[in-house]
Amino acid sequence: MKKRTFLKLSSALMTAPFLSPLASCSTESKAETLKNWAGNLTYSTSQLDQAKSVQQAQELVKKYDKVKALGTRHCFNKIADTDERFVSLVGAPENIDIAPDGKSVTVNSGIKYGELSPYLHEKGFALHNLASLPHISVAGAIATATHGSGEKNGNLASAVSGLEMITANGEVVQLSRETDGEKFNAAVVHLGALGVLTKVTLDLQPTFLMTQYVYENMPLAQLQDHFDEIQASGYSVSLFTNWQSQDIAEVWVKQRADAPQMDEKEWLGATLATKDLHPIPELSAENCTAQMGVPGPWYERMPHFKMGFTPSSGDELQAEYFVPRQNAVDAIMAIARLGDQVGPYLLTSEVRAIAADDLWMSPCYQQDCVTIHFTWKPDWPGVSKLLPIVERQLAPYSARPHWGKLFSMAPAEFAKHYPKLPEFRSMAKEYDPQGKFRNAFLEKNILG
Ligand SMILES: Cc1cc2nc3c(=O)[nH]c(=O)nc-3n(C[C@H](O)[C@H](O)[C@H](O)COP(=O)(O)OP(=O)(O)OC[C@H]3O[C@@H](n4cnc5c(N)ncnc54)[C@H](O)[C@@H]3O)c2cc1C
Repeated sequence: MKKRTFLKLSSALMTAPFLSPLASCSTESKAETLKNWAGNLTYSTSQLDQAKSVQQAQELVKKYDKVKALGTRHCFNKIADTDERFVSLVGAPENIDIAPDGKSVTVNSGIKYGELSPYLHEKGFALHNLASLPHISVAGAIATATHGSGEKNGNLASAVSGLEMITANGEVVQLSRETDGEKFNAAVVHLGALGVLTKVTLDLQPTFLMTQYVYENMPLAQLQDHFDEIQASGYSVSLFTNWQSQDIAEVWVKQRADAPQMDEKEWLGATLATKDLHPIPELSAENCTAQMGVPGPWYERMPHFKMGFTPSSGDELQAEYFVPRQNAVDAIMAIARLGDQVGPYLLTSEVRAIAADDLWMSPCYQQDCVTIHFTWKPDWPGVSKLLPIVERQLAPYSARPHWGKLFSMAPAEFAKHYPKLPEFRSMAKEYDPQGKFRNAFLEKNILG
């Protein structure tokens, strides 16, 4: 199906736009529709208030009965949707404040990692990890437990040591890892359900350089006996395949430049690439971060794509499933058996490792995980039929979907995977008793 037809079918009905009377905020009341990055979702309203300060965000939260914070719109499902009003802090002044001891940085929640990272590097600091692309907002990324790769690296939310949010009654609440214990662990992967985040504090470490090497055509069978070795080969490791051959097409190994370099010409049957590659082997690597062992700052090696390259929209759909680390190889082999079914619909598929954390709604809550990610062609009728098949195949391995991507899993399943779900619901009720921040996605999947 052509993308245009697909978009038309998936578009929600528009509500009539009207102008916001709140003079102190810039309000985009656009006649045109508001879409997510991929263009597969037209939000149920285009009423978007742009808050430039905490005070403005507070006024907006108090003013509306229903309001939803919007980040950089990179989610593929309706977790961010509302049919009432959006408020966004993306584009507000960045206010980057590095603590005097250099151990943390506090930022405006709407800042993008790609804006923050070069500044941190210039000042001598680094974050522990980044996602595959740097164009996402900090608040939106931590909301859905966005992750990069690295068996010793927790997801991006695991770097949060403090946050500030506006709860439903307009109160500004601050929570920190140091003083708020379990309440803090509940609030970090917030799913947009607790309030409007205004500030986030992130752990820092001294800056470092990284290299990136890519290996081609590793026989899938090597994963059976060498999965741990492969994951331990770098600071961050990604395996790319379309499951249509008996090989992992590309293994991306990202290493600290000050660590012993893993750059053998042959490794577990794979061959060191002799030119930069794109995760989809047929595509040009022009927009990919530098490979071939060229050292560069952490923020120009951890993401697969360059910050300077800004894809305004993407002709793709994404789904991703987390399995406990001990089930990883069996789950990967189970997906490989679906190769003929999923292959024709795939652009690529990626396997990454993520360390355990203590964040209640994180898919890696108290367990190391491996993710199996699917970048699908933008063919929703085809993909929507495949998701239940993929989920059935992964069910024996205790798979749970990424909160920001497409899935078909029944809501009842989440109770099995998230032991803290009942307490998270109570927390949402405490901060948002009237359901100001709720939407249909939250009602169906999480808050009940
Ligand atoms: C091309 C592409 C590549 C991706 N790569 C990765 C990857 O490598 N790893 C990975 O894990 N994910 C990845 N994702 C998924 C993406 O990281 C998540 O969907 C993330 O949540 C997007 O953040 P956002 O700012 O766009 O959030 P949005 O989609 O705008 O919102 C997400 C949620 O955050 C809430 N929210 C946003 N801002 C606030 C705020 N200020 N206060 C309260 N709630 C807020 C929203 O209400 C919503 O619930 C990718 C997505 C795309 C499109």
